[in-house]
Amino acid sequence: MINGAKLTAAPIRWAMVGGGQGSQIGYIHRSAALRDNVFQLVAGAFDIDPQRGRDFGTSLGVEPARCYADYQTLFAEEAKRPDGIQAVSIATPNGTHFAICKAALLAGLHVVCEKPLCFTTAEAEELQTLAASRGKIVGVTYGYAGHQLIEQARQMIAAGELGEIRIVNMQFAHGFHSAAVEEANPATRWRVDPKLAGPSYVLGDVGTHPLYLSEVMLPALKVQKLMCSRQSFVASRAPLEDNAFTLMQYHGGAMGFVWSSAVNAGSMHGQKIRVIGSKASLEWWDERPNQLSFEVQGRPAQVLERGMDYLHPAALHDDRIGSGHPEGLFEAWSNLYYRFALAMDASDRDDQAALAAIRYPDIHAGVEGVRWVENCVRSADAGGVWVDYQ
Ligand code: NAD
Repeated sequence: MINGAKLTAAPIRWAMVGGGQGSQIGYIHRSAALRDNVFQLVAGAFDIDPQRGRDFGTSLGVEPARCYADYQTLFAEEAKRPDGIQAVSIATPNGTHFAICKAALLAGLHVVCEKPLCFTTAEAEELQTLAASRGKIVGVTYGYAGHQLIEQARQMIAAGELGEIRIVNMQFAHGFHSAAVEEANPATRWRVDPKLAGPSYVLGDVGTHPLYLSEVMLPALKVQKLMCSRQSFVASRAPLEDNAFTLMQYHGGAMGFVWSSAVNAGSMHGQKIRVIGSKASLEWWDERPNQLSFEVQGRPAQVLERGMDYLHPAALHDDRIGSGHPEGLFEAWSNLYYRFALAMDASDRDDQAALAAIRYPDIHAGVEGVRWVENCVRSADAGGVWVDYQ
């Protein structure tokens, strides 16, 4: 149970790029990073508009002199200080991630980067190589993976409770962009602009989330080939899709499916993963993250509840309050951020054994998300054909 005890010797001096006033995702980064006293926000380039970024950083309590106009100045000026930043989180639109992440690694910083990590697998692998050569951590905020029942599912699958895995059925299909809301909303507009969003919209924006959950639950499962069909139901979004169906064949014969959508009218979030084995199935839904459905063929279904002592110890480790009280997305993100801090700390001490024992969405997860999107787009743009996974 997490109770506020110190997790690292000292908080990591930390900055943000992006995540400014009015951004969708900036606050949850700060809330998650600061909650367990593992990071200390000391600097930033919070906004594409320097003055707005400075005003906002100051409102957060950051010294005005450390609220910089852009990320280049942030990295250069902080490197000159004896108390300069050690890590940075990148919460900007997708098209900027590669350049900022690369610059941060070259500046000797640990990084937390938003998904999708970048546009191409080649770029993602370049970041992976750079991070390895510099001995730096890159965490990727697949935030739902911090929910404790994802760990429970991982443990039950590893223990063989489902039998042989046959099907992984996933979706992240919300309805908030059923109409062309981007015409009035800049935060949605960049998501459907290939220059800023990359080669896909919903595949990268939402589909990669349940995909990563499947990688956590089923680490041995590897995609062999896939076929993808993508559509722009709001025609002005073409060539980017607002809906996609991806069918995957894994090595060994299991099958997977991901429905990625922003036009599932009426759906709030609609992220689900159902893992089906020869004996039983598990299902988790992000709108009810404290429950995991366990369904054994021929028996009444069970609902496993977060925090109960019948769960695997690893699924109780990150509890912050006892069972019954709902925990949510903010706690899940905090569970990732404290692991990012532990990984950075272990890396700085060159404690490779400790580092290997920390499970978190790392640079490999970031690379795999980009790889999946690239393969989906290749299949879809060839007419929805099966392609070998590259
Ligand atoms: P947003 O448009 O709401 O906010 C972007 C912020 O970045 C703004 O404050 C903007 O001023 C700032 N910015 C843009 N370019 C910048 C630059 N060059 N330097 C400094 N600041 C800059 O976007 P958002 O919805 O918060 O999304 C940001 C990223 O987070 C995207 O990559 C998105 O895919 C990702 N995201 C992830 C999740 C998740 O669950 N992990 C959820 C939502 C968004």
